[in-house]
Amino acid sequence: AATQGHSKQRMLEKDRKYVWHHMSPHNEGPMIIVSGEGCWLTDMDGNRYYDAISGLWCVNIGYGRKEMAKAAAEQMDNVAYVPMTQAHIPGIELAERISEWLGGGYRILFSNSGSEANEAAFKIARQYFNQIGQPERHKFISRHRAYHGSSMGALAATGQAQRKMRYEPLGTGFLHVPPPYCYRCPFGQNKDSCRMECAEIYDQVMEWEGAQTVAGVILEPVITGGGMIVPPQDYMKRVKEICDKHGALLIVDEVICGYGRSGRRFGHHNFGVQPDIVTMAKGLTSAYSPLSATAVREDLYDAFRLSGGLDHFRHINTFGGNPVSCAVANKNLEIIERERLVDHASELGRRLRDRLMSLASHPYVGDIRTFGFAAGIELVEDKETKKPASSDLIAKVMTACKQRGLLIGKNGDTTPGYANVLTLAPPFVAAFEEVDWMVSTLAIALSMLPLYDGKEVGLTNGWRE
Ligand code: PMP
Repeated sequence: AATQGHSKQRMLEKDRKYVWHHMSPHNEGPMIIVSGEGCWLTDMDGNRYYDAISGLWCVNIGYGRKEMAKAAAEQMDNVAYVPMTQAHIPGIELAERISEWLGGGYRILFSNSGSEANEAAFKIARQYFNQIGQPERHKFISRHRAYHGSSMGALAATGQAQRKMRYEPLGTGFLHVPPPYCYRCPFGQNKDSCRMECAEIYDQVMEWEGAQTVAGVILEPVITGGGMIVPPQDYMKRVKEICDKHGALLIVDEVICGYGRSGRRFGHHNFGVQPDIVTMAKGLTSAYSPLSATAVREDLYDAFRLSGGLDHFRHINTFGGNPVSCAVANKNLEIIERERLVDHASELGRRLRDRLMSLASHPYVGDIRTFGFAAGIELVEDKETKKPASSDLIAKVMTACKQRGLLIGKNGDTTPGYANVLTLAPPFVAAFEEVDWMVSTLAIALSMLPLYDGKEVGLTNGWRE
């Protein structure tokens, strides 16, 4: 019924003729998905796939939630849109809820996407410094490998050259520092010699740039899309101290890490830091409707307001915070609370980590990194040199998983050869047995890889133990 009488062949022809996809679809052509239930997606042929990457790290409560559809329909029935200059009940309730989820004391500006939420954060930060008489503060520091969005400012903050190079000039005033990438420490350190140079570097960069020109730092709690790069436990705290020392703001991008993915309500809650600005999208509605938010600490908002900043805050977003998306987000957060999905995600994450460790001795598995209910498995062709696994090897693993009904992600850097991190971030409604199945499917896929370096790779040679 979900195919509504359409033929797959005809649909694929039209897709090829009319649709410009955001990312080039898989060589064999895109799957045409017609329905979803829990963690499972069904394509036009009736094949079912377990979505172990939650769409793109966003369908946290799972697919096919009737309550969500009902919340959207009821709101559309009441009033589908309210002009931005007025208010509506779902929006007011959601702003309060987001502030509470953050621990209180935030003011919320709505947009539609993660990119827009970050753009708004940059504009708010720059205008804030204008308002308080420090107009020279305009620079933002982010990390190489980070992804913060596709628009000209958010892309400028992104630290992956290949995503940017055909679109320059982008927004200006964006600087990058090396990521806290312990497996390939950019400072050449190891666990014993580490002095958290990856955090201290902000101090030096701010001094060398002229700290009075720096508006803020933007970072994700862990770099997700850039390859699940998990920082040392004290990293974020130290970065916040350095920001405070130099009068710069800390903007935390919770687009992926927020709403339970990290095992806490927000990723930064794992690190004992209170950000000045928090941006969020994706999991805010579990992708049932586009919505994003920029949360600004109340005292910053007050300074902004009291200096007359609101009167010339030139920022318009027609659909941002529309009542339907807000009603959907409220329902999403209600479900997460009611079903205790943040705690569940945390438990699922522990199980995932535990099971993944059985893969650690596989010759191609260089590093396993987890954060809450998300994991990155970095594949290398040589554990000594850490040569990244080729895109061909990565494709082989993904295809073998897909053939067994498991969709996993591929992340890392867009620099050729560095998209070598397999990622798992299933919906929070996953069952423990499904976590086990995911990992054993991945193990089978790995065991099918060709040999390297004379070592035999297979299920029988004991690497799984
Ligand atoms: N920040 C992060 C950390 C993201 O992962 C993404 C999207 N993958 C964005 C921002 C941009 O979000 P959107 O695609 O909704 O613009």
